[in-house]
Amino acid sequence: MSDGFVGYRSALVEALQRKGVRDMAVLRAIATVPRHQFVPEHIRHRAYEDEALPIGNGQTISQPFVQARSCELLQLTGRERVLEIGTGSGYQTALLSMLAESVFSIERVPELARRAHETLRALGDYENVSVMHADGTLGWKPNAPYDAIVVAAASPSVPRPLVEQLTVGGRMVIPVGSQDAQVLTLVTRDADGTGYREEPIHDVRFVPLLGEFGFTPQD
Ligand code: SAH
Repeated sequence: MSDGFVGYRSALVEALQRKGVRDMAVLRAIATVPRHQFVPEHIRHRAYEDEALPIGNGQTISQPFVQARSCELLQLTGRERVLEIGTGSGYQTALLSMLAESVFSIERVPELARRAHETLRALGDYENVSVMHADGTLGWKPNAPYDAIVVAAASPSVPRPLVEQLTVGGRMVIPVGSQDAQVLTLVTRDADGTGYREEPIHDVRFVPLLGEFGFTPQD
């Protein structure tokens, strides 16, 4: 895409490679998705910095490194059905759209869900994506099970409905901890389907996951 930001995207890809991102499909997605279209106009010039940025409604678009790492941990091959909790700007949804067969994304703030849906539709390249306004801690049962789930907000624990909607052997990436500090965690559903394993990856800081199986607003 020649939109005047190609050089910035390449520089971001190089920065992510230096930080250890290796998955070529993920790097290709970062090199392709126009991140500047997903951030408010007045901070567009900062869109390709490896930083979280405000997107309105008290929410943030996460740091590209964390988004790339999360996608990489899911080990997507292009054939998966993916559930994303916390659509936010829709940027990570667009990355996932390029990496999987279909993407179902849930956002709790109606205004953000609407805007993300419009951004994705206007760009025209992300037709395998559905965005819904709801409490994502409950998952999206009619389309379950999912081969991969990515949670883009901090949770006190792994929400049970999400584990139940993961395929046997499926992978979920979720920041688990307090509202102030979390550990990005890789959850793998056991081969016999009865339980799951949790593997800590690294320290992160996300906005809270607010919902029935997340934090309650007064926590
Ligand atoms: N991945 C996003 C960043 C999301 S920030 C991006 O690329 O822009 C986290 C988002 O999770 C916020 O938009 C917040 O409103 C949303 N969120 C918080 N709790 C939620 C819940 N229970 N269900 C769905 N979305 C939730």
